[in-house]
Amino acid sequence: MKVIVADHSGFCFGVERAIKIAFDKLNDNISKKNIYTLGPLIHNQQVVDKLQNAGLKVADAPDDIEGNSVVIIRSHGVSKDIYDLINEKNVDIIDATCPFVKKIQNTVKKYKAKGYTIVIIGNSDHPEVMGINGWCDNQAYIVKTEEDIEKIPFVQKLCVVVQTTMPTGLYYKLSDMLEKKAEQVIKFNTICSATMDRQESARNLAKNVDAVVVIGGYHSSNTQKLVDICKNEKPDATFHIEIAKELPVDVLKNYEVIGITAGASTPKWIIDEVIERLSDLPIS
Ligand code: SF4
Repeated sequence: MKVIVADHSGFCFGVERAIKIAFDKLNDNISKKNIYTLGPLIHNQQVVDKLQNAGLKVADAPDDIEGNSVVIIRSHGVSKDIYDLINEKNVDIIDATCPFVKKIQNTVKKYKAKGYTIVIIGNSDHPEVMGINGWCDNQAYIVKTEEDIEKIPFVQKLCVVVQTTMPTGLYYKLSDMLEKKAEQVIKFNTICSATMDRQESARNLAKNVDAVVVIGGYHSSNTQKLVDICKNEKPDATFHIEIAKELPVDVLKNYEVIGITAGASTPKWIIDEVIERLSDLPIS
């Protein structure tokens, strides 16, 4: 069996940075303060488990955070309200918001102040989108379908941004439609380069192999997008797993060439375990 790994897969810059920030703080906690993240640091249970074993506490809400502690803001970022709530608690804040996300937060804040109506193309229940909306008074229209756009009234000025992990095709389609929704429209393609590289590589990979294994958290938005892209090319031969032992080996041994890609929060050690397990499989 031949195994081919996508040119771009696994940890992105923002996730790698957030994990380094967390481990550095855990290893250098001279004052022995409690160290929290609000929600899991990244959408990968295995990495979250490692961080928790190293002492990181996961708070579900600002109320769960004790005073005199350290709070790491995860790469998805948080809304201004949440940031202010944490700030009131006599804690040290370490902001690990990915710079690409921070830039979107600053953009919506700036254009909201200039009187623009904000539109975010993305998933309304994704923490990154909820956070961004919180920097424009939670007044953005959040859209991901043509029907969502039809509900937006015609306005004077519209500012369009997009969740960093959305498919580029969807952004172009919906942002073109949004042109007709205001006299003046300013658009920012804020899909991050790591996402675009991973999506493009996944598409190329899926075209050139017999089956694809996508590795990544079941709650990871960017992993799910890779699954969708690969399914588009290989509807019956795309498999989503989180860890090596979930590989559907009985099915996979029927294929000669297997492609592997992984979401932006999948660590290299999990990818390596999958490659190792696949390489040991005989072809039936
Ligand atoms: S996917 Fe992009 S925006 Fe999100 S953390 Fe990674 S680099 Fe940052």
